This record gives sequence, C-alpha cells and structure tokens, in this order.
Amino acid sequence: MSKKTSSSDPTSAAYESAVKQLGLKPNIARALEMPDRELSVEVAFRLDNGELESVMGYRVQHNNTRGPFKGGIRYHHHVDIEEVRSLATLMTWKTSLVDIPYGGGKGGISVNPSKYSKTELERMSRKFFRAIDPIIGPNIDIPAPDVNTTAQVMSWFMDEYSQSHGYTPAIVTGKPLELGGSEGREAATGRGTAIITRETAKRWNIDLKGAKVVVQGFGNVGSYAAKFLHEYGAKIIAVSDVTGGLHDPEGLDIPTLFDYNYEHKTIDGFDQGNKITNDELLGLECEFLIPAALGSAINDNNVDSVNCKVIVEAANGPVTGGAATKLWDRKVAIIPDILTNAGGVTVSYFEWVQNLQQFKWTEEDVNKRLENKMVNAFNEVYEIKKNKKVPMRIASFMVAIDRVYRSYLLREG
Ligand code: NAD
Repeated sequence: MSKKTSSSDPTSAAYESAVKQLGLKPNIARALEMPDRELSVEVAFRLDNGELESVMGYRVQHNNTRGPFKGGIRYHHHVDIEEVRSLATLMTWKTSLVDIPYGGGKGGISVNPSKYSKTELERMSRKFFRAIDPIIGPNIDIPAPDVNTTAQVMSWFMDEYSQSHGYTPAIVTGKPLELGGSEGREAATGRGTAIITRETAKRWNIDLKGAKVVVQGFGNVGSYAAKFLHEYGAKIIAVSDVTGGLHDPEGLDIPTLFDYNYEHKTIDGFDQGNKITNDELLGLECEFLIPAALGSAINDNNVDSVNCKVIVEAANGPVTGGAATKLWDRKVAIIPDILTNAGGVTVSYFEWVQNLQQFKWTEEDVNKRLENKMVNAFNEVYEIKKNKKVPMRIASFMVAIDRVYRSYLLREG
C-alpha cells in the first residue's frame, strides 16, 4: 500500500506546489510527507445481547517535530487507513499554520455508530483507547472529537486512560466543562471562520457591513460562523442543512434562526425565507460563500454555477482540486480549510494548556487569544500570497511546511 496521500486530493496538490515554491529537495519533501507511525487495531466488544462484535480502529501519527501528535478520532463506516492518514497529514500543517506547539495525528473506527446503544459505544470506545494506549500520552499524542465522537466519548477516553495512569485530563481535548473542557470551545471553529472572513473582507476591499453571505451547513461550524458574521454586520442571505436551504435577499434573522436550530437541531420548519435546494444555494450571487458541511461540496458538476467573490472553506476539503483550478481561472478567491477552520484545534490547544496548568481561563481570555492566533496566521499567509503571487491555499501550505521544515532541520542536525 502506498504511504503517500492521494495525489487527486487538493491537499496533496497544494503540498506539491508549496514544496516546489519553497525549493525543498525531493528527499526532504518525502520525509515530511511520510507518516511517522500507523497503528491498526482490532476492537472487539460485547453487545448488550452478549454477542461479540469486532471492528477495526486506526491511529496515524504523521509528524511530531514541533510538538505532540494532535488530532481527532472519528466513528464512521467510511473510515479506513488511507482517510485517517490523509487527515493526520492535514493536522500537521494546520497546527503549524496557526503556530501551536503540536504535530499532526488522526484516528478512527470503521463503524456505523447509529447501530449501537450507548453502553455498546462506551465498551467500544474504552476498548479502542486501551488498544492505542501504548502510543498516546499527554506529551505524546492527544486525541480529540471528530465526526460522531462527542464530549461524552472524550469523557470515557479520559476515564479509561486515568484508570491506569492517574488523573490525566490533558490526554484528550473536547471534554465537557465539568471534566476540564475549555470555555469557548463549542463556538471556536465558527468564531475562527468569522474572523478569517472579516480579515479577508479587509484585504479584498469588501465592506463586510451589508456584504451578502451564504452558508452551506448549519451545524456547529456553520451556525456559529453565521451568528458572528451577522454580529459583524454582514447580511446572511441564505443558509442550509441536510434538509435544504432558506433564502431571503434582505437577510435572514440569524439570532432567531440560531436559537431555533439549537433547539430543533435543524433549520427545517423555520418560518422565514424561501425554501431552496442546496444546489440553488451554491449558485446564489454573494460576496462570501461558506461551505460548512461536507467535503467535495463544490465540484466539477456545480462549480460553473458558483457566483461569489470569495469561497471561505469552513468544512474540510469542500472544494475539489478540479473545481479549485476553474475558480482560480475565474479569479474567485478560495480561503483554504487549514486556515479557516483552525480555530477548533487552537482552542483545543488552550484546553490542553489549562489542563496542564490545572487552571481555568475565562471565555473572554480564550476568545482574545483565539482572535490573535487567527489574525496572525491570516496576515502571515496573506503576505506570502502577495509577495509570491500564489493562491491563499498554496501560501498557507508554504507557511505551514516551512515552519515544520525549519524545526525538522534543527532536530535532525
Ligand atoms: P455538524 O455535524 O455539527 O454539522 C454539519 C451540518 O451540515 C449540519 O447542519 C447538516 O445538516 C449539514 N449537512 C449535512 N449534509 C449536508 C448536505 N448534503 N447538504 C447541506 N448540508 C448538509 O458538523 P460540524 O462540526 O459543523 O462540521 C462541519 C464541517 O467542518 C465538517 O467538514 C468538519 O470536518 C469541519 N470541521 C469541524 C470542526 C469543528 O470544530 N466542529 C473543526 C474543523 C473542521
């Protein structure tokens, strides 16, 4: 099996372009691209009816040159070693880009969690954490939530680890507040997305006050991004979730819609705006289009209908490589995922620091530090974009790879 990430994904293409721009030798580029360690484990656990179930779990540790491996664990039937490897690699560049002292890792279990009861999921989670115990630790590898893994799953992980190693909240992030979670974590990725959109508006000479914004996906990231952009004065003209979209050219009442969605877990049934499909939503004329739902949402089939000035990638990989090339030709800017959605891992880092210090920061403190990290990363990327005349995605990878490379050289002699 190839140890490389797939060359068809935009991340891999951006990596190739960035290492060329940086002038890295092929052997160094290869060394930085290869994962440090990959672990596959069988996770056997009892079902409530006493039968034994067996699933596969993975943890990939991509690079720890700048700090412990860091990245989420997802439960999904599509999880395989290739996907986990690709996501672990992305984490190395994301943590480097926002300059937090971590490397990159990722994990997952190939399972459909909706098939199991809470007690079955608890047994599975604990068994998986025991299986990866030899390669994790608060200064070695710190997991976090990802698709279908909640604060409850993090509590089980933390408890399982603490039973054999002593009370160790710093072993995972994304915990509930009662167990050492951080203030501000829930809103962090959406807040970071809004901050990056605001900074983009300044550099692209777009007045954010009244700027038309369209958000695809109204979950954790999309709903908070819409809420903060509305507070900045933008006009959110359309949002959607898996049930479809709502459109009002005069701007949706975001605070009321946010509360409605928080309560009902969907925007379906909200009584403002015209109903539209997700395809129609992607084609609306606007200043900022924010895909905050799925990977590959903007692809060869729908890219020609996209009618915005800037795409702000809040989801991971929402624009395919082919679509990105077409948009670049049309001078539509794309602000890449590793920059836009790095607010989540940044506040995860703050959670870890608070756990290590056994001290709690206020939400105001967390938000101020998040603001600094996001703005600094944006400015660093923008300077490279301007000086080297490269797209924001390539500039982001250049900043991230160069920081890892310089640490790597010092450590390898
Ligand atoms: P979530 O599950 O809370 O929300 C997902 C939203 O997308 C929901 O509103 C859902 O209805 C909607 N959706 C699903 N399928 C859709 C479809 N076909 N069309 C339109 N909408 C659809 O997830 P989230 O935590 O908000 O994450 C969203 C994206 O951001 C994912 O790509 C995730 O990997 C990425 N991300 C999240 C975080 C984080 O901290 N939550 C951090 C980094 C990246």
